[in-house]
Amino acid sequence: MEKKYKIKEIYYTLQGEGHHSGRPAVFCRFAGCNLWNGLEADRHKAICQFCDTDFWGTDGENGGKYTAQELTDKLDSLWPELGLMNKFVVFTGGEPLLQLDEALTEVVHKSDFEIAIETNGTIALPKGVDWVCVSPKANSKVILTSGDELKLVYPQDNIDPKDVVGWDFKYRYLQPMDNPYIEQNTNACIEYCKSNPVWNLSIQTHKLLNIP
Ligand code: SF4
Repeated sequence: MEKKYKIKEIYYTLQGEGHHSGRPAVFCRFAGCNLWNGLEADRHKAICQFCDTDFWGTDGENGGKYTAQELTDKLDSLWPELGLMNKFVVFTGGEPLLQLDEALTEVVHKSDFEIAIETNGTIALPKGVDWVCVSPKANSKVILTSGDELKLVYPQDNIDPKDVVGWDFKYRYLQPMDNPYIEQNTNACIEYCKSNPVWNLSIQTHKLLNIP
């Protein structure tokens, strides 16, 4: 039987953070993560207790179970008719690499999408990903120590930018942890970037501007 991918939600928006901030993109959120099961009752067991994403189940906008072709057709249907150039999909999660494989990247590429992923970096990468953004989490074993964009949520206990700054990425971003201390966290990121200019600030503009 053909593989079906479990998808929490799919929607067309602007990428809100990191290097491609402001770029139109279809966001495709895979269900499930290997660092937390997504249930509030089990948050105390999560590796990243600050997780702000609902990735549990397949009940979001356009969520469901899709074959590679069905998923690609859905991505296509969400891309604006007049804007066929610069097609861009961001596979996120949860942890997209629990499910994303070469069979899917091949079909999506046939539809002329550039493929980006946002991953915690703990699972091997299939062929066919055009932009790799790794967001390392403390107390996890990251194996993807090279890629395009390193995006560290800051500050995190038990992970210091110095621990990862030597990894092989084109761009390095510090992103303030979104919690009740967001203002202090943002100031800490600003100060850190100013003192350590290999790091740039990444702001979650979609939250600031309420970009749907
Ligand atoms: S890796 Fe990402 S999606 Fe998974 S629990 Fe951590 S913050 Fe949430």
